[in-house]
Amino acid sequence: MTRSYDVMVIGAGPAGYVAALRCAQLGLRTACVDKWVNKEGQPALGGTCLNVGCIPSKDLLQASEYYHRLTHQFQAYGIRVKDASIDVPAMIAHKDRIVRGLTDGIATLFRANSIDHIHGHGRVLDSRRVEIIDPKTAKVNEVVQTTHVILATGSEPAKMGEASTDGERIVDSSGALEFQEVPKRLGIIGAGIIGLEMGSVWCRLGSKVVLLEALDTFLPAVDQQLSKDALRQLQKQGLDIRLGARVVSTHKTSKQVTVHYTDSRGEHDLSVDRLIVAVGRRPNTDNLFAPESGVSLDERGFIDVDEQCRTNAPNIYAIGDVVRGPMLAHKGSEEGMAVAESLVGRTAHVNYEAIPWVIYTEPEIAWVGKTEQGLKETGEPYKVGVFPFAANGRARAMESSLGFVKIIAHAETDRVLGVHILGPIASELIAEAVLAMEYAASAEDLARTVHAHPTLSEAVHEAALAVDKRALHKAN
Ligand code: FAD
Ligand code: NAD
Repeated sequence: MTRSYDVMVIGAGPAGYVAALRCAQLGLRTACVDKWVNKEGQPALGGTCLNVGCIPSKDLLQASEYYHRLTHQFQAYGIRVKDASIDVPAMIAHKDRIVRGLTDGIATLFRANSIDHIHGHGRVLDSRRVEIIDPKTAKVNEVVQTTHVILATGSEPAKMGEASTDGERIVDSSGALEFQEVPKRLGIIGAGIIGLEMGSVWCRLGSKVVLLEALDTFLPAVDQQLSKDALRQLQKQGLDIRLGARVVSTHKTSKQVTVHYTDSRGEHDLSVDRLIVAVGRRPNTDNLFAPESGVSLDERGFIDVDEQCRTNAPNIYAIGDVVRGPMLAHKGSEEGMAVAESLVGRTAHVNYEAIPWVIYTEPEIAWVGKTEQGLKETGEPYKVGVFPFAANGRARAMESSLGFVKIIAHAETDRVLGVHILGPIASELIAEAVLAMEYAASAEDLARTVHAHPTLSEAVHEAALAVDKRALHKAN
């Protein structure tokens, strides 16, 4: 018998599984088809984010930060530890346990909300029918009827002809989460978010890390005052970030990889034990549509959608990494919730102006809204307040006083236009800034808000005061 649903979600990453949960909460009969299998060969929900993305990378960042603090910072508190060492397989096993717990948790949530989890590759035949293909045999298992389709097939690592991955010496971001020993020499192509996070993990554990970045500017999307300071701090930690480096070819032997690259100073060879390719991600639309489905892609290969995530085909929506906008888990989840709400006739909206970004280096880099260089380009008048963590008591007590908070407000209305944080746990501090922007707050609103003492959030408060040149714990 043909199965039939109100909503068929294709892809169970943070965009798709959240969409499915919200659809089910709203009373829609929902199924979610996903093809992911974990290391044990078992179907696993959660997509890139839970299996090989946000969660496992943060677990390794946490482990390596603890190790680094133990071996480099705890002495400052009089804590003496002899013979500290890192057991890499145990660290990877911890990461696997966390991933397993969370992916199993999604399966439990699906059961609790009566969502059918179908394992397989989904292919849209038309607005009402989705074909389920067995990933192993490539045979069609069934055709499911549905009223609505939500496409949430995510993205995968972009490939480079000059450095093909082999899962051993040359790996992508997934392979970088699986090293069983610390590589002595680690090369990374791309000094973007993944390059910096993975580079930080292995550098803290003792690798000599070299990042080859094609662009001349470090993190061009980040406020340049922040990115310049971040570059200095990361280089001090030992990350050898080489800008303007164009990879020409790679040569592999059984022992090492040699990367041939050029920069403004000429031609170079870099020999490393392992090489990570982290040059961006591409939308995943492979074999997703039958020709008659009528769904269009944009010129960059993303599924073309409007502000409400509607594709050009009736009743077919697309969300998450497979559509325009930042490739971030929380952006996809918000789109998933908004689409679910719209299916039952509710008003739904994603505020793309207030999506936070975080790079989980140490110090962390987090921002929301407009950058100073962006405002210079558009000519919008602005004023800036900056406050350093060096003048924040909590940060000093934590031995984490690098970086600063920068608030940019409109010169005339005082409305907060952007907040940029380089510093300890910036990932959490940015939430206050997102809320402020969501509520169209002014810098004065933040300045008048009581912040607990002693907290890192006092640096946000002081930066808001600094917008009006009245910070208390620094000279204005
Ligand atoms: P995905 O998570 O990619 O999920 C798509 C799912 O669809 C997958 O399970 C896939 O197997 C399945 N699928 C694809 N095609 C089909 C098909 N035809 N049929 C059935 N199933 C299909 N973002 C953050 O916000 N914070 C972070 O800290 C962060 N860290 C990251 C670290 C790394 C190393 C990486 C690689 C990414 C990180 N990201 C982070 C990005 C984040 O993982 C993605 O933005 C997010 O996973 C996108 O969610 P999604 O649901 O759109 O797609
Ligand atoms: P990225 O776009 O952040 O960085 C890729 C970098 O590679 C860029 O700096 C780019 O200039 C460089 N590059 C491209 N081609 C190159 C070449 N041939 N040689 C040298 N350098 C080259 O992409 P990513 O680091 O692969 O991450 C992909 C996406 O995943 C991110 O943009 C982000 O959306 C998401 N992500 C988010 C987080 C987070 O939120 N903390 C963490 C990891 C990944």
